[in-house]
Amino acid sequence: MRSTGYKLGRFFLCGFKHNSAFVQSIKNFAKEKRVTIAGFTVIGAVKKAKLACYDQVKHEYEQIKLDEPLEIASCFGNLSLKDGKPFVHIHAVLADATGKTYSGHLINATVFAAELHLQELLGNKLEREYDPTTGLALWEFEDR
Ligand code: ZN
Repeated sequence: MRSTGYKLGRFFLCGFKHNSAFVQSIKNFAKEKRVTIAGFTVIGAVKKAKLACYDQVKHEYEQIKLDEPLEIASCFGNLSLKDGKPFVHIHAVLADATGKTYSGHLINATVFAAELHLQELLGNKLEREYDPTTGLALWEFEDR
């Protein structure tokens, strides 16, 4: 396993705007605060969401479209760079009115209300590069 050690930077607590686009809101926040590396969690609720599961043979995401109000039972992600721009990788467990859950790679969601807890990390630049083995954009560590 390859890795890099980071120092802790600022810790942010943020409230999403009603009806905001989940992924874009986090990217915008990162740009505004000049955060390039972070780990985060989110709790709250969304009006609808698009999750996905990566097909490891076809090398493409199979989408799961959810057009209903859902609780964000669990959501965590990280922020790094791809092509020099903020890139977020997010997974979520979303619960419907009966408590039934859907989970996977979060493509996007429309926020009803949600809270972001974000830990900025300080250290070497962390950029994603295309990995031909998996077809994914994976972390390329600088200090190999
Ligand atoms: Zn993922």
